[in-house]
Parts: sequence; structure tokens; C-alpha cells
Amino acid sequence: MKIAFIGLGNMGGPMAANLTTAGHEVLGFDLNQEIAQKAAAHGVKLAHSAEGAVEGADAVITMLPNGNIVLSVYKQLLGLANKGTVFLDCSTIDVKSAEEAHTMAKEAGMLSLDAPVSGGVGGAEAGTLTFMVGGSDDAYGKAKPLFDIMGQKAVHCGEGGAGQAAKICNNMLLGISMIGAAEAFNLADKLNLDKSALFDVISTSSGSCWSVNTYCPVPGVGPESPADRDYKPGFDASLMLKDLKLSQDAAAQSDGVTPLGAHATSLYEKFVEKHGVGHDFSGIINDLDALGKD
Ligand code: NAD
Repeated sequence: MKIAFIGLGNMGGPMAANLTTAGHEVLGFDLNQEIAQKAAAHGVKLAHSAEGAVEGADAVITMLPNGNIVLSVYKQLLGLANKGTVFLDCSTIDVKSAEEAHTMAKEAGMLSLDAPVSGGVGGAEAGTLTFMVGGSDDAYGKAKPLFDIMGQKAVHCGEGGAGQAAKICNNMLLGISMIGAAEAFNLADKLNLDKSALFDVISTSSGSCWSVNTYCPVPGVGPESPADRDYKPGFDASLMLKDLKLSQDAAAQSDGVTPLGAHATSLYEKFVEKHGVGHDFSGIINDLDALGKD
């Protein structure tokens, strides 16, 4: 397949590289030259412009920071592609913008999918992402071989916007469960309970969850995680906050009631305000006592 890949950052770069390695003809573009060159070092051919990348493409993949940027790139490119080209947006964006992108693509005669991912930079590099996909069966069928290269699992969640809805619900739960895990281990400390013993109990009991079993926020406990690397991300707390905010916007727009999601958002807001970027979201365990008392 001839693939245009727009946005070659932390996630897009390795995803484009995996498609290239699998034998697809990938033409990449990123506004940031330095970032584009990194992808080129991994075999991705570069176009001089986004427009140049899209010419003659069978699929256009976007991996961009937010909904406004995705919509502006769609405005820029939809008129240039051959009819029936599949536009595949893998960015994490708000559901409303995702739905708008689908409408624009349909009006231009294109197939389209929203397909945000879970698995982080490690998953992008290893080709083990999970894709949560919204859009028509036709579009999904055309993109499925690409999901199989970039990921280990793709779930077709429903019509346009369903992928972003699934992503936001999943990550809201992740934010809540990480705070829950942190609270449990902090309380264990106050109760003079050994944290490794608590891990052995929780990871095989009804409290078990990914935030404990796979990504334990306590250094030296459980499988290796960012806690063992001084909370170097991993999954940056600022991205967790982005996803929590998207969940709260979606809840407000749909009359959804998410009190724990709202509380997790406010705790991560304070955490990111204090630490900025470059700090894993599991590091909240070290600030929870202070944040909880605020
Ligand atoms: P990033 O900032 O590293 O990459 C985004 C890239 O888009 C940048 O290189 C930027 O220069 C480029 N860009 C911005 N506007 C552009 C335009 N108009 N044309 C071309 N390029 C443009 O971000 P990332 O970590 O790769 O994340 C990308 C998306 O994936 C985000 O929506 C993020 O929420 C989501 N996501 C990230 C992770 C993660 O762990 N990093 C995990 C899951 C999902």
C-alpha cells in the first residue's frame, strides 16, 4: 500500500517505521524537521509537504496532538486524495472533533476511521498497540492489515467517534485506578504492612488491576515499571491529564456522571502543575498525601 503518514513524533515515528519495515511505501511528513529526520533514520521516506505525501496514497494516517490540528490537516488534505482513500486518525482527540472529521471525510468521498491507541511509545516501537476503532465496516476492512502491523489487537467499537469514546472511558478508568492503587500502598505504609506482601495479595485477589499487576507505582515491587526508573515516563502525567480532561468534556456534553473521573482530573491537574512534563503518571503516589489534604 502507498501510505501518507502525517505526524512522526514519539508515537507516529515508530508506527511509520513499522509500516515501512513491513514493506509498505510510506511517505511521512512532520512540521518539525528534527523529528522528521529521526523517522527517516528508521527508514521512513520523507515528503516535502503534507500535500506531497498524500498524492496517490491509498491510506492517510494522522498521529497528531489534538482535535483542532487534526481538523485543520483534514481541511488541508481531503480535497487532494483519490476518492475512496482511507483516512485513519490514530491521535487521541475529543469525540466531537472525531465525528466532525468523519463528516468532512464522507463529504469529500473518503473512507475514514478514528483509531486511537493504547500501549504508549513502547507499544508503538514493538508493534504491539491496541487500536480502538470507530467507522464503517468498509473502512475497517481496508485498514485492518495496517492495524495488524502496528498493533497486536484492533477492536471495531462502532460507528465514527466510537474509538475515541472507548479510549476516553479506558483512560479515565486508568487514572482512577492508578490513584486507587497509590492510596492502597500508601495506607499499607501507615499500617506497617510490607508492600511486597500487599502486592502478592492484590495481584491475585479482587483488587487486582493493571495499575498494580503490571505498572505498580511502588519502586522494587512487582514487574519493572517507571517507579523503578525514578518515574521517568512511561506514560507522561501530562498525557494522562489530557485524556482525563477529554473524559470530563465528553461527560459534560453527554450528561454523563463521573465523580471519580472529575476528582482524578483535579488531582492530576495539581500534580502536572507541580511537576510539568517528563514525570510518569504513577508518580502521583508520592504526592497523594499532600494533594489529598489540599
Ligand atoms: P508528539 O508531540 O511526540 O507528536 C506529534 C507530532 O505532530 C509532532 O512531532 C509535531 O511536530 C507534529 N505535528 C503537529 N502539527 C502538525 C501538522 N499540522 N502537520 C504535521 N505534523 C504536525 O506526540 P505523541 O506522543 O506522538 O502523541 C501523538 C498522539 O498520540 C496524541 O494525540 C497523544 O495523545 C496520543 N497518544 C500518545 C501516547 C504516548 O504515550 N505518547 C499514547 C497513546 C496515545
